[in-house]
Amino acid sequence: MAKDPVCHMDVDEAKGTLKSEYQGETYYFCAPGCKAKFDADPARYARPEAR
Ligand SMILES: [Zn+2]
Repeated sequence: MAKDPVCHMDVDEAKGTLKSEYQGETYYFCAPGCKAKFDADPARYARPEAR
């Protein structure tokens, strides 16, 4: 499972078509709204556990 970086839900990347790439990493999203938030400001959401 991947983790949605916006809302922190678990996302099944096998059936997840909502994804974005940022700095060479792929991020998966549970909903179009989450992807839109990430795409608007990826630096804010990427790797939240590292902040
Ligand atoms: Zn989400």
